[in-house]
Amino acid sequence: MDQEPTPRRSALDLTYPELENELVAAGVRAFHARKLWSALHRESQVDPCQREDFPPPLARWVAKNLAPAAPLAPVRPSVADDIPSSDGLTRKFLLRLSGGQTIETVLMRYPGRYTACLSTQAGCAMGCVFCATGQMGFVRHLQPGEIVAQVLHTQETLRAAGQPGLRNLVLMGMGEPLHNYDSVMRALEIISDTRGLNIGPSKISISTVGVIPGILRMAEEKRPYNLAVSLHSASEEERAALVPASRRWPLKDLIAACRVYGEKTGQRILFGWTLIEGKNDSPTDAENVAKLLRGIDAHVNLIPLNPTDGYPGAPSAHRAADEFQRVLQEAGIPSTIRQRRGIDVAAGCGQLKAARSGARRPEPTA
Ligand code: SAH
Ligand code: SF4
Repeated sequence: MDQEPTPRRSALDLTYPELENELVAAGVRAFHARKLWSALHRESQVDPCQREDFPPPLARWVAKNLAPAAPLAPVRPSVADDIPSSDGLTRKFLLRLSGGQTIETVLMRYPGRYTACLSTQAGCAMGCVFCATGQMGFVRHLQPGEIVAQVLHTQETLRAAGQPGLRNLVLMGMGEPLHNYDSVMRALEIISDTRGLNIGPSKISISTVGVIPGILRMAEEKRPYNLAVSLHSASEEERAALVPASRRWPLKDLIAACRVYGEKTGQRILFGWTLIEGKNDSPTDAENVAKLLRGIDAHVNLIPLNPTDGYPGAPSAHRAADEFQRVLQEAGIPSTIRQRRGIDVAAGCGQLKAARSGARRPEPTA
């Protein structure tokens, strides 16, 4: 399925110990890694090859390995589009990767803080019927450095505007993070490294459609990030109609995996619920999800549908959302109704890209 060539390795794909190893293997002292790491991940607007403050052995290594077309030259996407929402709270970037594919990165402003929403794949193989990215089909996995570069881009944008840096990251852009497990975990290790971007693991949330092996692996490996599971339905059949990946990883097994995750990590799980009018927004739906989640330390995020061209559903009315929340509350399950952000910049997952490319129809995937 993955017909796109994998992009070449870049310095942004390397974790700190790997960068250190590269230097040491070339005879450069290990402690110089810190200066280079900081140049790449903290003061990232300056090309490391132009730096005049590097000690000569490091400067020579950088000139040989990080110059344009050198083996580890940092790969940074170009900005194909940059669209602010009219309320000024959301800014959406369409970034062009090497190879020409485009992905979305969204910067969201909340009182006193910024959150970036990152993509982990170009397109997605999971085929959720209401999702613009799912409707595009799968193009390719992102490399770790391509995930890191999205954070660098948003940090630089904030810095240029004199704004405080990013506080939170959510992996809720294009793609299924746990379908690209190794690259995502490697990227998050780089992003949370205290010597560089230094975004704390507790400020990072990974959202999954329910890739069970990935959830269990996260628990096993004690990954310190927050887990969000996109649920959308408490019925096996109805969920499979919305989320085709549910046929491979059925709801009952998914909930069992969430229980294991909760027990092993002691962490609360966020459950995402896209509210679709007349589909999954009745008080009975709310009662059913409350039953399903009984005994799990859960918080439910209720998100009214962002309409897409490829799916005829509509967002739930405010009243239905409030009523849904009331039922959950009575059952002792905390929830939040999320505002749809930047509706005028097509803020739903993959919608900007879909609007620009004219992509429409779902592909038979997953
Ligand atoms: N693949 C992961 C993360 C990316 S999607 C996942 O599915 O969780 C991030 C979230 O956006 C998911 O909860 C998804 O259900 C939601 N989403 C996708 N399309 C949407 C739309 N059109 N309206 C509202 N939410 C949507
Ligand atoms: Fe993929 Fe998530 Fe969209 Fe489903 S909702 S198609 S898993 S990006």
